[in-house]
Amino acid sequence: MNIHEYQAKALFEKYGVPVPKGAPAKTPEEFVNALAPLPEGPTMVKSQIHAGGRGKGTFTDGFKGGVKFCKTKNDAKELAGRMLGNTLVTAQTGPAGRKVQTVYFTTASDIKKEYYLAILLDRGTSRPVIVASTEGGVEIEKVAHDTPEKIHKVFVDPAYGLADFQVRELCFKLGFAGAEAKNAARLIRNLFTCFWETDASMVEVNPLITTPAGEVLALDAKVSFDDNALFRHPELVELRDLNEEDPKEIEASKHALNYIALDGNIACLVNGAGLAMSTMDIIKHFGGTPANFLDVGGGASREQVVAAFKIILGDANVKGILVNIFGGIMDCNVIAQGIVDAVKEVGLKLPLVVRLEGNNVVAGKATLAKSGLKLVSGDSMADAAQKIVKLVAA
Ligand code: GDP
Ligand code: MG
Repeated sequence: MNIHEYQAKALFEKYGVPVPKGAPAKTPEEFVNALAPLPEGPTMVKSQIHAGGRGKGTFTDGFKGGVKFCKTKNDAKELAGRMLGNTLVTAQTGPAGRKVQTVYFTTASDIKKEYYLAILLDRGTSRPVIVASTEGGVEIEKVAHDTPEKIHKVFVDPAYGLADFQVRELCFKLGFAGAEAKNAARLIRNLFTCFWETDASMVEVNPLITTPAGEVLALDAKVSFDDNALFRHPELVELRDLNEEDPKEIEASKHALNYIALDGNIACLVNGAGLAMSTMDIIKHFGGTPANFLDVGGGASREQVVAAFKIILGDANVKGILVNIFGGIMDCNVIAQGIVDAVKEVGLKLPLVVRLEGNNVVAGKATLAKSGLKLVSGDSMADAAQKIVKLVAA
C-alpha cells in the first residue's frame, strides 16, 4: 500500500525525521486554513498523487509542473487552484495521468545541496538496505547506471539492528561534517526506526536536503507498506486512498484475491502465484499478452471465484479468458461452479479456454459440461495457451 507525500511526512514527523512545515487541502475552501499556520514568504505547492516525477510533469490542460515554487502564500493559493481537480501526467503515471484531489502547501526551503536516501528490502541478502547518494533530486536509476560508485549501501542485520558505526560511516561517505553530520545521523536512525516499526517495504527521500542554516530535511517522501503486515497497523490502513487505486484491484482486495491489472487482452484465472506467473509467461510465449495476474489462492470459495470471474469480465480490454487450475488443495469443482455461477449472473460473450487438472477434476469437468457453457478445453498448459491466443487473434 502506498500513501501520499503529506501523509508520509506526518509519519516522518512522528519518528523525528525533520520535514518542512506544511498542510494539505482537498478543496479550494480549505486553502486559506491550510496556509494560515505557514509563515508569509516562499511557499511550495505540491500535487498529491501516488507517482513521482511530479515536478517535471505536465497537466492535461497544458499547465506545467505538479510541484511549484511560489514567492508568496497568495501566489501559492492561486497555483493550487490550477492544480486541484486537474490531471497530472508524469513519467510514472502513464499517458492517462492522475487527477489531483489533494494539494500540499509547504514552506519553501533554501537548498544548499540535494541528496538521495532510501531504505528498502534487499531480496538478495534478505536484509533492509539503506541506499544513499550525494546525487539527489535526479533520477536515481540514472545515477546507478552512469556512476555506480556514487551510490552507497548499508545492509542492516535484522537481529542486531542499525549500528551507530554504520550510520557514521554512511554520513562520512556522503560528505557530512559538523552539525550537519549530527543532524543527518539522527535523521537516518529515525528514518530506519520508521521503516522498521511500520513494516514498510520502502521509504524514499528524494531529495534529502541540507540548508544554509545546517538543517537536514526530507523535502520529498514516498512510503510503501507491506500489505501482508497491514493487519498489524490499523492506523496506517486509514491512510489508504482508494482514488489512487484501480477499481478492479480494490474489488479484488475485498474478496482477498491476489489481482493485478495489466495492459494485455487475455485474462487469466489461476490458483497459486507461481502457476499464475508461468501462465502469464506461456501466454506471452505463444504471442499473446496477459490482461492480469490473478491468483485465487489455494482454498478459494465459490464466492471468491464468482467475484474473480466478474472482475475479469468487467475489464473492457479483455478479449478472451484462460482458466488454468492445478487442483491440489483447490477443488476443481469449486472453480467450475464459481465460473458457472458468475456466467449466469453476468453472461459471457468472450472465448473461454479452461484447463483443469488435479483434485476433483472429473466432477469439475462434469459441472462445466452440464452447464452448457460454451468453452474450449485445454489438455495441457501449452495447449490451453495456444488455443486462447488463437481465439483472441481471430
Ligand atoms: P517529485 O518531482 O515528484 O519528485 O517532487 P519533489 O517533492 O521531489 O519536488 C521536485 C523538485 O522541486 C525537488 O527535487 C526540488 O528540486 C524542488 N523543490 C521541492 N521542494 C522545494 C523547496 O522547498 N525549495 C526549493 N527551493 N525547491 C524545492
Ligand atoms: Mg522527488
